[in-house]
Amino acid sequence: MINSQELDVLRQALDILEDGAAGLPGFTPELDTDAVGQVLADVARRMQDNFPYFHPLYAGQMLKPPHPVARIAYALSLWVNPNNHALDGGRASSAMEKECIADIGRIFGWDAPLGHLAGGGTMANLEALWVAGRERPGKQVIASEMAHYTHGRISEVLGVPFAAVRVDAQGRMDVDAVEQHLATGDVGTVVVTMGTTGLGVADPLVDILALRERYDFRIHADAAYGGYFALASETGAATRAALAAMREADSIVIDPHKHGLQPYGCGCVLFRDPGVGRFYRHDSPYTYFSSGDMHLGEITLECSRPGASAVALWATHRLLPPVAGGEFAAGLDASLRAARRLWRELGDSDGYLPLGEPELDIVVYAAN
Ligand SMILES: *Cc1c(COP(=O)(O)O)cnc(C)c1O
Repeated sequence: MINSQELDVLRQALDILEDGAAGLPGFTPELDTDAVGQVLADVARRMQDNFPYFHPLYAGQMLKPPHPVARIAYALSLWVNPNNHALDGGRASSAMEKECIADIGRIFGWDAPLGHLAGGGTMANLEALWVAGRERPGKQVIASEMAHYTHGRISEVLGVPFAAVRVDAQGRMDVDAVEQHLATGDVGTVVVTMGTTGLGVADPLVDILALRERYDFRIHADAAYGGYFALASETGAATRAALAAMREADSIVIDPHKHGLQPYGCGCVLFRDPGVGRFYRHDSPYTYFSSGDMHLGEITLECSRPGASAVALWATHRLLPPVAGGEFAAGLDASLRAARRLWRELGDSDGYLPLGEPELDIVVYAAN
């Protein structure tokens, strides 16, 4: 579970970090190693009560250990504990977050999106639907019956009317049903799920985009789980086309803490039109002092946020750039192959009944 070399690498990086404070008078925080050690021993014993997510044999929920580089970079940054609300609290880590946003934008073919990291997919979707509500005041948000449960609740929080759209036999949003909703004239935003949390299938975004020729509506792509598969090369043709079509969406949510190898607390929202930044406009008389450059808090609903998330993601992008054809993308293809193989072997067994062939890396089956 623990490769102690990780701790050596962290120690070396901490020494370099410390060099940055060499000009200050010496200061070493006190530590009661006995008391802290005892508490940590209790913590470690308590934490034994978990499933072994880190082990290759664990294949349950979408829970994975972060990549070591992410874990180490996250830990390293905690000695600074930057706050990415404002440049005053997290200058270096804010710059790293902006670079990460540019990297993630490029996955979807967006050159200059407005966006930021968030606590997770739910907070990121909340921002996307908040902007959608500001762009289309009084209009409905619709999402499929298989969309993540939080969309209905987020709409409730925002005071935006919400309706669920029926799905076809594969669990994809039914395009005729979408059109029936659009024909009422009440719909402002269609949420497409690019990889449903339950079945791992992508809504038919190409067909939904075609409806824009006749109806005027925003599209928000919830790709919290499935978004990174846009970099994979072994997806089926329809899935690939749907994922590629995300470049035509108005906003995208993707969770680096799902397939992006990050520790929890890392979602991301992107807007294709940077002009939506106007909805966020506010002043913070406490924090926006040190720079005329954009403070991430100026385009975020949350105030304080962990700079550590950005540092960890930046380090991961350095080691494993999120580009097609790279090592990171090869890992996604390996996930696709593993899911298909599990599905085949379940189908060959007497004990299990698999559902349809997995489109991404979620395999659904029943005990026979
Ligand atoms: C996981 C997930 C969410 C919620 O994201 P959190 O990071 O758990 O808040 C939203 N939508 C989809 C499609 C998801 O898979």
